[in-house]
Amino acid sequence: MEKFVEITAAGLQDTFAAADRILKEMQGCGRKYYVESYGCQMNEHDAEKIAGMLQACGYSKAETKNDANLILYNTCCIREHAEKRVFGNIGALKKRKEEDPGLIICVCGCMMQQKAVADRLFKRFPFVDIVFGTHELHRFPILLEKALSGERVISVRESDGEVVEDLPVIRNGSFSTFVTITYGCNNFCSYCIVPYVRGRERSRSPENIVNEVRELVRQGYKEITLLGQNVNSYRYDDVDFPELLRQVNEVEGDFRIRFMTSHPKDLSPRLIDAMATLDKVCNHIHLPVQSGSNAILSAMNRKYTREKYFALVDAIREKVDGVELTSDFIVGFPGETEEDFEDTLDLARRVGFSAAYVFMYSPRAGTKAAKMENQIPEEVKKERLLRLNACNAEQLQAANAGKYVGTNGTVLVEGCDTRGPSSMAYGKLTNFKMVYFPGGPELIGKLCRVNITDTQNNSLIGELAD
Ligand code: SF4
Repeated sequence: MEKFVEITAAGLQDTFAAADRILKEMQGCGRKYYVESYGCQMNEHDAEKIAGMLQACGYSKAETKNDANLILYNTCCIREHAEKRVFGNIGALKKRKEEDPGLIICVCGCMMQQKAVADRLFKRFPFVDIVFGTHELHRFPILLEKALSGERVISVRESDGEVVEDLPVIRNGSFSTFVTITYGCNNFCSYCIVPYVRGRERSRSPENIVNEVRELVRQGYKEITLLGQNVNSYRYDDVDFPELLRQVNEVEGDFRIRFMTSHPKDLSPRLIDAMATLDKVCNHIHLPVQSGSNAILSAMNRKYTREKYFALVDAIREKVDGVELTSDFIVGFPGETEEDFEDTLDLARRVGFSAAYVFMYSPRAGTKAAKMENQIPEEVKKERLLRLNACNAEQLQAANAGKYVGTNGTVLVEGCDTRGPSSMAYGKLTNFKMVYFPGGPELIGKLCRVNITDTQNNSLIGELAD
């Protein structure tokens, strides 16, 4: 892994000083912010840091966009039509800004890290106050101070980002949360824009990660998800991902550890051993396969074959008790023949994922795959998406039917559905299976022992154990 620069509290003095000045200036003004975040958990966690910085500046959270004095869009560029939607959302704020010139409008995130897009947005919408890229997140209060004094600011740094510690965070959940362990990605899968907008892979120090986890457990969090574009390639000096898991597992307390995302090419036997032996690490792995065809995997630059994937699945199932696998697929990648797609169906049938997220390929400007010939017509992509979804659903129902009834497990209760005749609590087992059982909102955030009595579609039905 390449060298990286770490910025801690001492290096954030300008940021904190700007936040302090805004706080003093704003005192008693009752300023409110509204943050809308798109895309993956990384972006969601960035939005939590943005909220942390805004609260340090004296802003409080607005219930709706209409109550806000500051509106921020944290953009994503992974999904199709993302740009159109963001531009539409911003355009809709024009009238609001005319009526309330003091309103601050900010746009950041992965889409704004694409300099051409950021420039286009800044030019097209003169009422937008701040545009910044992913590598400038920790400088947000500095940019905000300028905007509050009437300046329009655009800040997109094209060089790689650093590892920034010690930013304030306002977390969305109170019992389950994320801890970032790596930033960026070195893999350059041919369809993916992430390495271009998140920079090269950078790992946080194990000490900082373990301290953050310890503090979250002390605050009562019951589930920590370690986050990275590819957690399996985490490395800091001699510490690799299995060793990091061991260190996090040693943190005292009643909590469980999840991680995502795992790239199959970097999944080591040591990681499988760590999952099998560390008591707090969940027996679930999200292992995106993307395609079951070796020709397409090679064109995607995934650097593994279907045979290697099968071998990994076998090794994981052999060692990790009660494990479930989930995955991502892309259908209709350039050049995908009916035969290639049949290989994907075959892989899905043979593995039997407990959940699978299927996406139709759509080109991202600037990636290798976008320039490939043999792009697949939309109707073929749609038809393959439906067939693969149906195949996955069939496998899942067959697997659910026999395997779980009569067993028991621990559920972390996420919520409560009160719409039916009786209130049903719901949450996930350690292996990510969703369970519904009779119970009220007082169980939310608790770890409950549940007996499984039935199945329903993709979920399980249970009752509280004695
Ligand atoms: S591993 Fe591949 S798909 Fe995942 S973020 Fe990196 S380049 Fe994108």
